[in-house]
Amino acid sequence: MTPSERPLLMIPGPVEISPGVARAHGAAPQSHMSAELTDAFARSLASMRAVWKAGATSQPFVVAGSGTTAMDMVVSNLAEPGTRALAVCTGYFSERIVEMLRRAGADVVEVRAPAGEAPHPDVVRDAVARAGAVDLLVATHVDTSTGVRVDPEPLARLARERGIVSVFDGVCATGGERFEMEAWGADVYLSASQKALGLPPGLGLLVASERALARRAARRGPKPPMVLDWDEWLPVMRAYEARAPKYFATPATCLVAALAVGLGEILENGIDARVALHQRVGRAMRAAWRALGLELVAARPELSADTLSAIWKPVDPQIDVVSPIGAHGVQVAGGLHPEIRARYFRVGHMGYAATEPAMLGRTVRAVGLGLRDCGFACDVDAAVAALIAELSKG
Ligand code: PMP
Repeated sequence: MTPSERPLLMIPGPVEISPGVARAHGAAPQSHMSAELTDAFARSLASMRAVWKAGATSQPFVVAGSGTTAMDMVVSNLAEPGTRALAVCTGYFSERIVEMLRRAGADVVEVRAPAGEAPHPDVVRDAVARAGAVDLLVATHVDTSTGVRVDPEPLARLARERGIVSVFDGVCATGGERFEMEAWGADVYLSASQKALGLPPGLGLLVASERALARRAARRGPKPPMVLDWDEWLPVMRAYEARAPKYFATPATCLVAALAVGLGEILENGIDARVALHQRVGRAMRAAWRALGLELVAARPELSADTLSAIWKPVDPQIDVVSPIGAHGVQVAGGLHPEIRARYFRVGHMGYAATEPAMLGRTVRAVGLGLRDCGFACDVDAAVAALIAELSKG
């Protein structure tokens, strides 16, 4: 298959990557102690603070693995038997971090919402008050299983007010949704390489505040598993930033090289411009879905993520829509939330693809044509026109 025959990858991660990132990733592996790799590592860590909008005293970590690795790293450093956690649950990935917290021995209070909804910040505030002492507050910024975005700002501020350490899962958000780690006083924002940051899969990424690091330092129980322990990695991250490489466990050098380039591309115009681009793309994709006569799983417009769309199937849930859409050259994803899995599908529109209107147009067209093949009457040209009209609003 030539690259032009390859289906466009528009699932909610992994995503299409830029030519610059592909070149950096595809170059021959470097020694983790080389000057080139040290420079890429140092630039990546500094760029993460800029993309995360984190303070100068915060600590970025780059680890081989995935978003789940970053989640496990955070949980195993911050939670131990007896830790009291409150989790804002909006879908599949919130459930995952709750399970991790429980495995670490934490007592977890869940504040839940039905699929497509998110708990109001006042409900979370009341739950925190009722719970009495809370050590950790966790929330998923964008839950990839529903396309629902929570507003992290009031949650981070609430946690700061109450002396609670806040943790946000930004795996499907970082680089595409607004997050102001320092201004809001958030303590951990974790992510992965393969979504809105526009890199291949393979890296877990996170930035921790001084308060979060202090919580790890004050830990009295058993140490976290060695490969996840911030105490093992802190000297390594600090050494790379000081441009004096230090070994603990071999970093994914090809991915670190790609990370430096990918974050550099994001920061060419600044993170605010990148987030604004995703907002425009999110609006444009939603305009196209409306023009096709489709509805989103996110129950209210303010809950709709800009990085992906979770869309109700307009046909019988028994009918597979992903393969017919794929037959038109664009790969989208099926449902993931267990309660509604068969009734919806998901389309990613983040990272490099958000910078390429032609990819977005191909995606809207393929979705319309694929659904038409499933028996749904819709106006594909009108949807592409709605997309373009919204994108050109600037
Ligand atoms: N959290 C969220 C919000 C996610 O979307 C994902 C992956 N889809 C994860 C966590 C887990 O990340 P990974 O698959 O990279 O381990």
